[in-house]
Amino acid sequence: MPHQSSDFEGASMSETDQAVPDSGDRGRARAAIGLCLVLAIGLAGIWLAGWTRSNYANPERFYQHDLPPAERTPAISERVVLVLIDGLRDDVARQLPQMSALARRPDSAFRRSVTGVPSLSRPGAIAVLCGSGPEQSGFPLNESGGVVGVECLFDTVADAGRTSAIGGVGEGFEARFHPPRTRVFARHRSDDVSAYVPDDPESYQLAKEALGTDASFVYLYFPDVDEESHLSGPFSPQAQDAAKTVDGFIGAIAASMDLSKQTLIVTSDHGHRDKGGHGGYEYASRRSPLLMVGKGIAGGSTGDVSQTDIAPTVAALLGVARPRHAEGMPLVGGLDVDAETAAAIRSAHEAALARKLQADLAALEGRPVSPGEVGILRKLVDEAGWARGVREAFGRVPGAIAIAAILAVSMAISGGFRREDLLGGAVAAGVFAFVIWATGWRLTISQFNVSSDEGRLTVSLIAASAVAVLVGSLLAAGVARSSGRARATFGRHVVAATSAAQGFAGILLVWMFVYYGLKYSWRLPDLRPGLATFWAMYAMGFSALAAAVLWGVSGLARRMVRKGAGSEEEGKSEAGATASGAPEGLGGTDTDASGVTRESNR
Ligand SMILES: [Zn+2]
Repeated sequence: MPHQSSDFEGASMSETDQAVPDSGDRGRARAAIGLCLVLAIGLAGIWLAGWTRSNYANPERFYQHDLPPAERTPAISERVVLVLIDGLRDDVARQLPQMSALARRPDSAFRRSVTGVPSLSRPGAIAVLCGSGPEQSGFPLNESGGVVGVECLFDTVADAGRTSAIGGVGEGFEARFHPPRTRVFARHRSDDVSAYVPDDPESYQLAKEALGTDASFVYLYFPDVDEESHLSGPFSPQAQDAAKTVDGFIGAIAASMDLSKQTLIVTSDHGHRDKGGHGGYEYASRRSPLLMVGKGIAGGSTGDVSQTDIAPTVAALLGVARPRHAEGMPLVGGLDVDAETAAAIRSAHEAALARKLQADLAALEGRPVSPGEVGILRKLVDEAGWARGVREAFGRVPGAIAIAAILAVSMAISGGFRREDLLGGAVAAGVFAFVIWATGWRLTISQFNVSSDEGRLTVSLIAASAVAVLVGSLLAAGVARSSGRARATFGRHVVAATSAAQGFAGILLVWMFVYYGLKYSWRLPDLRPGLATFWAMYAMGFSALAAAVLWGVSGLARRMVRKGAGSEEEGKSEAGATASGAPEGLGGTDTDASGVTRESNR
């Protein structure tokens, strides 16, 4: 034992022999190659983050099966006016005088609709109009582009030989829905919230024009509550004023309708967090008011409904076919109809939904399946989804191994597998997560409230990456030094610890890759681990850039110190200094001081 211990000490003392792989020109070359790998992986991470985001925005439209049209049912109402108040919270809506007055009528029900996730405007409006949630419509984000491929109410109203009208200030109704037999009274308005100007009177004027047509289905859209809630929060005087203004419109619209023959439905696409913002899983973001009043509405019905139930309910009221890709069911219990009509509505909608679920099941299993009942098919679809998920995950294992191997090779070359650098990398990953958390970022897209928030996040990601690399590298170098094994420069610890940190971030990436893949079709990834992985990919990139800067600075500092030392000790070669190990130590700015001392002492 004593012999071994002296051997060990000997090893740490005579670094010249033991430290060959990491000393001198070879060590420098290896660190330089390591830095290139770290940079390449980091830039690939940033590219991958952007690529997966656009994949998420535009998933393969898996659920747009070729289906026969659904059956029509007996018409209940002459006209349905569906008003969508963007971003109106359920609790705010219940305080509004006109909506409250309408809710007190005997032919009225004030319920709550639960939105899908992401709880955003475009997916929400499509769910209301077509009965397909974000995953099914393939429009999970506001930036999701193209024409809505699932069938919507405009289509089935037209198929029944009737017409629709759209009114309000919005954007791209025609481009997105290609609505047949529909007159559109809308003005395109910018999506840029910071350039927002309230346009209430214009919204209402356009709504009145739509109401003035003889359309059976009138869809009205008011954006102001959402805009004000984003800018100042849903309880701000501005947002409350906007809500009261729209509430006034609702009162006027209801007064202009013959509610003994027609039906008014008021809802929103999503709610808002208390401090403004939506898109995530929060209760308030995912709750919308659903006020139904007039012909066909059973008074006082309560209970939460799915946002995808609204379109089938409108179809049932009008007696047109339900949108054939809709996921929801009409709120038959909330309709004031005789038993025969209720049964007819139930059977028509169940038959169409069963056909849709059968097609979902066949697509998920990749083979034809026999028809069945809605309840059984739903269960089979769930099971098929689970089995397909497992199958696909196994198929992605080789790709995951390849990603892990690339990261491991980079760590091996950069020195990231050394104990101190592994520790530095792990601490860097933790510091990154802590700084992101401490600067207020959470795993929800509701925090991207206005367009400038993404810029603030980028700043936080860069700052957190830089701090993480600095702390991790200092720790790695400090541990190496205090354990008496200091033979790499600070710059090399920077590269090694950053490579190790990329390895730790890579665990998240590999896990998400195995579980969800990088392109999406039948299933969208959960937003929480999705966001964590998304940020980890940016961290891989920004930390690599920070490492390159730190590496350069520490190298420069070392050279300057050497120059200073060199003027005292003329003719000493750089290679000799490195091989001796003494001047290397921690390397960077603070440790160069000790390097000088040692060098001049020699
Ligand atoms: Zn919205």
